Amino acid sequence: MFGIDLLGLDLFTDKPSFIGWLTVILDLLLVTYLVYKFLVLVRGTRAFFMLIGLLIILGFSAFISHYLDLFTIQWLIANLTNYFFLFIIIIFQNEIRRALTRVGSGMNIFTAVQQQREAFEEVIEAVDRMAQIRLGAIIVFEREARVEDQILTSGDTIDGVISKELLWSIFNVTSENPLHDGAIIIRDNRIYKAGVLLPLSEDKRMEKKYGTRHRAALGITESTDAIVLVVSEERGTISICEGGKLVAMENLTRLRNELMRLLRRQSLTPSRWWRSKGTRSGGQ
Ligand code: ATP
Ligand code: MG
Repeated sequence: MFGIDLLGLDLFTDKPSFIGWLTVILDLLLVTYLVYKFLVLVRGTRAFFMLIGLLIILGFSAFISHYLDLFTIQWLIANLTNYFFLFIIIIFQNEIRRALTRVGSGMNIFTAVQQQREAFEEVIEAVDRMAQIRLGAIIVFEREARVEDQILTSGDTIDGVISKELLWSIFNVTSENPLHDGAIIIRDNRIYKAGVLLPLSEDKRMEKKYGTRHRAALGITESTDAIVLVVSEERGTISICEGGKLVAMENLTRLRNELMRLLRRQSLTPSRWWRSKGTRSGGQ
């Protein structure tokens, strides 16, 4: 009567067999793994913050309605929670679709990490040169969150292998190259888009010496988990923006270490590996 009912088994009165226990443990492990995969997949996305908001509102309403005996609210919450999984699927439809369509290529985690390292080196060499010759640039490294619904104009799709030569060409200031004005977006180790207009940060604490380029670089990191490299045309400096913070890099070693630290942590998570499996096979 006082047993714990777990997955249909009353653990005190049913006395499950060894196989029964194994099934219960396997079941719990599977659910834990699925929840973990899901959280890693949606971490940093806007939908994730929507989910947190929804949970806070539901929790708060449940608490208040319980103590004040608000019957109708309680009835509403009980009915809404029945459809919780439907809400999850609707809110995270993009993420779920991406995960499902990216199953199937044979790239392993070591290849993915190696490719990312080579791509980083190309970017670092490119921005080093750009800083020397005072070529302004904004390079957005997308992480979990898609930046599309935050950018002001979608720019032009490039979908090219990262190379310093391509980066220099994109940011080369000539009247025949309209792409130099704006940012590029790196997605899954490829130059995904160029000539993208980013939202400007309105942070009042930002130093006066920074203009719209640095505000744009910072702006996208305030609403997504992207990492942004910005090269200053005026000063020839290279800075990294993350989470609404801009830090100038005093030398290349620091730049390399910071970039590796911020992006490697990401690259080794199962979801990044999973995602990179889905980019075209033999992509680099
Ligand atoms: P720098 O140190 O390179 O001079 P800054 O922070 O002082 O940069 P500005 O001098 O205003 O900024 O740079 C203007 C350039 O920044 C534009 O020519 C354009 O290439 C880029 N830029 C401005 N606004 C945006 C935006 N919203 N999104 C992307 N790039 C932008
Ligand atoms: Mg300027």
